[in-house]
Amino acid sequence: MSSRHPARHAGHSQRPQTNGDTTRRTTPAVRQESNVNDYPQTGLLHDPAPGELLLRGVLLYGEGEPADVLVRDGVIVAIEDAGSLTPDTDADILGLDGQVLLPGLVDMHVHLREPGREDTETIASGSAAAARGGFTAVFTMANTDPVTDSPAVAEMVWMKGQQTNLCDVHPVGSVTRGLQGRELTEFGMMAASGAKVRMFSDDGRCVADPQLMRRAVEYSGDLGVLIAEHCEEPRLTEGAVAHEGETAARLGLRGWPRVAEESVVARDALLARDYGGRVHICHASTEGTVELLRWARGQGIPLTAEVTPHHLLLTDEKLETYDGNYRVNPPLRETRDTLALRAALIDGTLDCVATDHAPHGSEEKCCEFDRARPGMLGLETSLALMAELFVTDAPEGQRPQDWRFIARVMSERPAEILRLPGHGRPLAVGEPANLCVVDTTRRWTAHGADLASKASNTPYEGTELPVKVSTTVLRGRVTCRDGEVVELP
Ligand SMILES: [Zn+2]
Repeated sequence: MSSRHPARHAGHSQRPQTNGDTTRRTTPAVRQESNVNDYPQTGLLHDPAPGELLLRGVLLYGEGEPADVLVRDGVIVAIEDAGSLTPDTDADILGLDGQVLLPGLVDMHVHLREPGREDTETIASGSAAAARGGFTAVFTMANTDPVTDSPAVAEMVWMKGQQTNLCDVHPVGSVTRGLQGRELTEFGMMAASGAKVRMFSDDGRCVADPQLMRRAVEYSGDLGVLIAEHCEEPRLTEGAVAHEGETAARLGLRGWPRVAEESVVARDALLARDYGGRVHICHASTEGTVELLRWARGQGIPLTAEVTPHHLLLTDEKLETYDGNYRVNPPLRETRDTLALRAALIDGTLDCVATDHAPHGSEEKCCEFDRARPGMLGLETSLALMAELFVTDAPEGQRPQDWRFIARVMSERPAEILRLPGHGRPLAVGEPANLCVVDTTRRWTAHGADLASKASNTPYEGTELPVKVSTTVLRGRVTCRDGEVVELP
């Protein structure tokens, strides 16, 4: 079972300081000697759920014979043939015969909109959507109001997630103050805070200034945190609303060219190569980005990348109806891009799937296409969509993958990239019970109105999906039971 799991990063390699030049360093050198990965995850509000939980008859990674998995005080304590374990009399027993057991999913990229736009999503409603989607940890982006650019906002987000206790909600800190792209935030202070921020991003915007990005990469390397880049050269995308191509030309929509993404991917790969930090590419969307990532991998550059379900599944042909639900940033591209992204996820050039869950109110979506806000919901549909595309209904010509592939790209790799303890771990005795169970016999139809999210802007309205998350477990506590959220009593 262990041979399929790539070696975990035990820590970060020591790197020389590289700020020997005379340019003014815009960020105070706070706690340069420490590393985020050395601190324990503080501020867990709840202990692991006490008592016993028995998952009966599950297939680990969808393989082999049905097994019983016994959880005690939040930890897996036994995995035996189905029917052979006798739990405590007061144990919570879930009959899950033949369902697929996976590690709890980890989403590196969501927007939970709190603070500031609680009318479209809150940390509580987003956590409910996450639990229903099989997620046990999510990372919520910094483009809130106020921006998550200080320890106070980061700790507020983390604590609200802990109070809800449906999913670990990790705040992403912004790279620049107020997302203004001018001055770095204090990564060290946020990393050392109770929220223990381990990823920084101006997502929604690109860190367009190359000198500022260079400083961010240097500073992040010192601290062992990750810089996640929304790759969009802003001058090349002014006023752009759709992929630059035949469809946009025909529909009269301003085009967003591939080069606007790829030029930043190339720049950031070279910065990561030369300045000692780890850079992560958000929502890769083009064939050229895949080629650049493959090159960077070959050079040993510490560059990782995610892809969204919608960039794997949908193309700009969906824009024919001018439906604002298909407006997203980066935009839906062409078939050659979706095919390149799928192959890259299978061969490991792309590391993982992230949803870019982006709730919007109906007034922000049901309007002219070029006035619609970019973004789509993702948390509750992603597992089913990825299972359909890669496992249960792989299209002709694409080698079908197994459930271990889903575990890798939706749980293990994101947890590794973020050096996140307790999540994305093997299904084994002694591991924390952060788990997700998939019912492969339960077809369902996605409707925005039925989702736990406050918003309903799904591009999959009315789409029938082949599998459903039945159960999610966070540190031994059942957060989703039979497809429904289990709130704290
Ligand atoms: Zn983005």
